[in-house]
Amino acid sequence: MAHELPKLPYAHDALAQVISEETVNYHYGKHERAYIDNLNKLIAGTEFEKLSLEEIIRISDGAVYNNASQAWNHLFYFMALSPNGAFEPSGKLAEAINEQFGSLDEFKEKFEAEGLSLFGSGWVWLSKDKKGKLVITKGFNAGSPLTTPDLTPILCFDVWEHAYYLDYQNRRAEYLHRLWEILDWKVVEARYEQ
Ligand code: MN
Repeated sequence: MAHELPKLPYAHDALAQVISEETVNYHYGKHERAYIDNLNKLIAGTEFEKLSLEEIIRISDGAVYNNASQAWNHLFYFMALSPNGAFEPSGKLAEAINEQFGSLDEFKEKFEAEGLSLFGSGWVWLSKDKKGKLVITKGFNAGSPLTTPDLTPILCFDVWEHAYYLDYQNRRAEYLHRLWEILDWKVVEARYEQ
């Protein structure tokens, strides 16, 4: 069965205080669609055809990996955004953030700095390890923590230029800083507690 581009759970102009409708139209409607369409073409009639995106990412490389991973990463990114999400984490995730980083603000600073220091295109990730410890990593290009056996990703910010150039031009730091305004921590929390 071919992979599909799901409809977002919010209107394309719903994030406009931080990310414009035009950006969502291009980023989700065209870039993400292209990754999914390319993947479907690449895997037709191959050993990958019946596998989930996660399964493909863990065992593939080259163009199949790049398109599968980008397809998955963008779903993970867009599904954690919301025009009216929870502005801060609670429960066990809040405890882990405070314990490891000192405060939510100190965590955000570290996460933004990691995204800002990534040279070229990629992703900044927050994952949990098998003991629930939080880990911030960079992923170059389509890079994903799904290929690190001990890590379970719970949050990603896209730092490819196509994610912010229409709205922020070269100002990646401002884009990263403002993303928190539309991040739904309830989604991140649910991923942490899974
Ligand atoms: Mn992107």
